Amino acid sequence: MKKTNRREFVNTALKATLAGTVGTSMIITEACGAKPALQTAASYQELATTAALQFAQVKLPYDYAALEPWIDAMTMDIHYNRHHAAYVKNANDAITDEKIGFATEKEFFANTSKLSAKARNNGGGVYNHNFFWQVMKPNSGGAPGGKLADALNGTFGSFDKFKEQFSAAALGRFGSGWAWLVNDNGKLKIGSTPNQDNPLMNIADIKGTPLLALDVWEHAYYLKYQNKRNEYVANWWNVVNWEEASRLFQ
Ligand code: MN
Repeated sequence: MKKTNRREFVNTALKATLAGTVGTSMIITEACGAKPALQTAASYQELATTAALQFAQVKLPYDYAALEPWIDAMTMDIHYNRHHAAYVKNANDAITDEKIGFATEKEFFANTSKLSAKARNNGGGVYNHNFFWQVMKPNSGGAPGGKLADALNGTFGSFDKFKEQFSAAALGRFGSGWAWLVNDNGKLKIGSTPNQDNPLMNIADIKGTPLLALDVWEHAYYLKYQNKRNEYVANWWNVVNWEEASRLFQ
């Protein structure tokens, strides 16, 4: 890291930490090539006064090749370092340029109806991918246990019926978007959102605390699966991090 960038990096990391970004701890700006959006000390001071949110990209918790053969390394590399990193840069540019003063991601998304398309789409893109990386894991899959297993069985009839319904949400999303499993005040729900919308947004059809997310944008699967979204969705179950989904279901 160049010395001149260190202060900006520290400031950005601090801001993101203060803002409680996604409940995750790792802030990276160097590995992904995305520079912090705080260009000047003056703008930092201005933001610091209002404790405005700055989005940050979480560190990928595994290697690019770790989810092979189900998700290929090149897709993971491009998805993380280009797509996700661009959402971070553009979201923070929007926050700066439009003087968006929300202090937390929760507040930002709860006010989505007031945001520009740039802020909404890129802010959603940051959050959704930070979340997506956490709910996947190498050598995982299978089925959850404990309280989440009981809730899935109780809500959807069986684990297989849950998988069918979630897969249908992922396959039924026309164009780009996401499939979600959420906890809506103790009730499990499945749904999907267009583009980079998510269940934290006040404009979303499905609302709640996300437990699982599946990215069905073509950039998430096209290199390996081309137009066969159904194969991508079927194989994705092999990398679901049920420990994390269970942890989130409290
Ligand atoms: Mn994506």
